[in-house]
Amino acid sequence: MPYKGETAGKGGHADFVRNPDVQAFLDECDYMRPPSDSEANAMAATFFAAPAGIPSELPRYVVASDASKSDTPINDKLPSTQVGFIKVSQVLIGMDSYAELVDPRSRFVDPFKAAEMHRNADALTFTLPGSNVRFQGAKSVKDGFRRAVFKQLSADRTRGGPNHAALSTVLLDINDGEIRVGHTASRAGQCPSCGAEHEFTFSASVQRKNCPTCDETVFVTDWLRLHEDISDFGNNASAMTRMMNAIEHLLMVALIQQVFIADPRALGRMAFVMDGPLAIFGQPAKLHARIMAFLAKVNARLRDLDQEAILVVGLQKTGDVMDHANLLNRFLPNGVMRILDDDYRYRYIKGSDSPAENFGHETYYGQDFLFKTEKGRIFNFAVPYPFAVKSGDPKKFSSAKAELRNYGSLIARACDLIRHFELDLYESAIVPVALAHRHASISIVPGGKVLDIIAKTGLNKNL
Ligand SMILES: [Zn+2]
Repeated sequence: MPYKGETAGKGGHADFVRNPDVQAFLDECDYMRPPSDSEANAMAATFFAAPAGIPSELPRYVVASDASKSDTPINDKLPSTQVGFIKVSQVLIGMDSYAELVDPRSRFVDPFKAAEMHRNADALTFTLPGSNVRFQGAKSVKDGFRRAVFKQLSADRTRGGPNHAALSTVLLDINDGEIRVGHTASRAGQCPSCGAEHEFTFSASVQRKNCPTCDETVFVTDWLRLHEDISDFGNNASAMTRMMNAIEHLLMVALIQQVFIADPRALGRMAFVMDGPLAIFGQPAKLHARIMAFLAKVNARLRDLDQEAILVVGLQKTGDVMDHANLLNRFLPNGVMRILDDDYRYRYIKGSDSPAENFGHETYYGQDFLFKTEKGRIFNFAVPYPFAVKSGDPKKFSSAKAELRNYGSLIARACDLIRHFELDLYESAIVPVALAHRHASISIVPGGKVLDIIAKTGLNKNL
């Protein structure tokens, strides 16, 4: 859903739905319908007063990330020859400088002051071969794509900052230092180019190997399986979307890791805001489990240091949960919330009578909540599951993740953050995301600016 004021561009859609064939088809389908008043009131009755910190518990810095992509022909006359372009901005917002941006009379952000924050805008970009483009003489688009993914994820994008790490190394770190490509329960490994069975084990010092059968290079980043959706002549937009999603989350992990190494206590004074659910979809989905384990490791250390768990918030402004929230909105009083447990999700949102034992079992590392603020705006936010693994019975995990007390202070802190940044200018968006959308305010490169800021502002010192 575009922000209010942007055009949706859905011309012709009503005519199509009125078509009798389509109507007859829909009669045979289950799908989300607006609830009746009594249904909606029953749902609304399950919401409870949203918690708040007393006083409100706010971080000193917020890191927000935003990603965009384009998949375009390289030339108007060659529409089938495409390159993909992914841009990820990470924005650091000091709560002090945010306060200065807001006009105290109107509560609107002063656009001139915001523009000043943007002056260091600097997004990370990734360029990838699309249909009909072979990178570095590769024998297929797919092999060239693998090569380009490795080249860009193994490059030092940090411009020499302290504790820098290439994303391929971060990927190895969160896999406990070892990655095996094409490995399954029934085989030791598989070449992503020719499919021959060989073991391809990678470590920080060995991130590429040649296949003994076809002599193509196999890369540590092939573990993400992003290339599997690539075809020589087809539209590769979905592979680009998967890659964008994976990189956005991986960059957040890289940043958390760098701050963690520099000073774990600093993490307690920061919040990380992602645009979208805390989940990795499609071919690289298994990355979600590694991120979950990584965050649990960070939290274990923070607990040892007597610190609160790291606050990572996923904010979703579109999708079925937001559609549901918008339908329900007028039945909800202000200042209420609900955890989206699997029963509720399958009963009221998914419209499915054969629910999975644990929603998002292969993809999600965070739990969704619905929150209607005291000012009456509705948000779908997520915080990480407070567990290292989803081991054992999926049904047990499904109920464990729905227990509010397992989240400690995270829910109140997430609500406080949303309340603080709630912005009249945008619907269901909070300032960091809105700023990142328009332009990075202070964009950061992993290992670079954030660590300088920690050092210079005393973020590492207890107040
Ligand atoms: Zn091979």
